[in-house]
Amino acid sequence: MTAIPLRSFWVMFLFAALSSPIHADPFEYAFRELSPGIWVGIRENSPRFPVMGTTTFVVGSEGVIVFDGGGTALMSERALAKIRSVTDKPVTHVVISHWHGDHNLGIYRLLDEFPHAQVIGHSFTRAAMLGAPMDYVRGYPDAVPRLETRFRKLLDSGVTSGGEPIPDSMRDNLQTVLDHAELIHSEYNRVRVTPPTITFSDRLEIHSGDRVVELRHLGHGNTAGDIVMWLPEERIVATGDLVVLPTPYGFNVPPRVWAETLRELKALSFTTLIPGHGDIQTDSTYVDLLIETAESIADQRDAFLAKGMSPEETEAALDFSPFVKKFTRGDDFLANRFDVWFTQPFRKAALKALTGEPMVSLEREQAEGEE
Ligand SMILES: [Zn+2]
Repeated sequence: MTAIPLRSFWVMFLFAALSSPIHADPFEYAFRELSPGIWVGIRENSPRFPVMGTTTFVVGSEGVIVFDGGGTALMSERALAKIRSVTDKPVTHVVISHWHGDHNLGIYRLLDEFPHAQVIGHSFTRAAMLGAPMDYVRGYPDAVPRLETRFRKLLDSGVTSGGEPIPDSMRDNLQTVLDHAELIHSEYNRVRVTPPTITFSDRLEIHSGDRVVELRHLGHGNTAGDIVMWLPEERIVATGDLVVLPTPYGFNVPPRVWAETLRELKALSFTTLIPGHGDIQTDSTYVDLLIETAESIADQRDAFLAKGMSPEETEAALDFSPFVKKFTRGDDFLANRFDVWFTQPFRKAALKALTGEPMVSLEREQAEGEE
């Protein structure tokens, strides 16, 4: 019985480090204004190490509403600098889409500057951030030195742990992580868990003058407490990790329920979708692909079990091959991401979803010894 296992995060962390392209600074956002007063900051090339969520902010007449304010302190400081460059208004609300730290471990920096800002999230998100799920953050202070040692050994030896020569692309990326190790280490040593102090379970509206920001829980998606920010006038939705590109996350995601939640999302009839990671979408093509994939896996599972196959046999038999190329377009790096971040955990989640156990346990004692 596990929460999201600590090792899952380190697998994500390590594989992204091994295979992502070179960038100047891994904590930079590319900001753009989608509509007057609605800004989005995307950490470009989303699978790149260290994986960090998108930030969105809305300037209302009373102040600024931030949706996912930064996965590290530096990212939140950069979001703040961007906010200050476009408005003199204070940050009044900081919304957390879900508990995963790559969206919120830096938001305390926003609160340092705007201590009266309200931190808002789903009630499950608060419970998760106060409970065992967030314990993985305890691994942050030592993470980078550990990886540094491992990567230096790999580069010195010239061969992978499997004895194969290290490909050039991997060598470049190992070196890039080493080049930024000091900054990453320093950022990983100033993260802070900041749970929401205002919670809701279904729907909450924020009115800032004429501006209406709707926060909605459409159902279990990436977590049991996912919320989206819906701007009805502009038909813009920010989804958190309910939608992630270019390949989705499958950790603890129940396929049938996720598909239903995605159908609710589609029913908003958005014209712009801001995913938790990756490029902005201007139609529902990608959401449709997620729904098709999730429903296929749920249907396969139900059919295999109905034929009398065991859960273990069913988990192994689930066939993702019709979908791989649709997400990866033949790119080896993305194929690896699809496998590690989606196929492997989604198989487990598909079977776990039928057990009646919570997908993520909040109980701290059950998380002991995971690492
Ligand atoms: Zn994320």
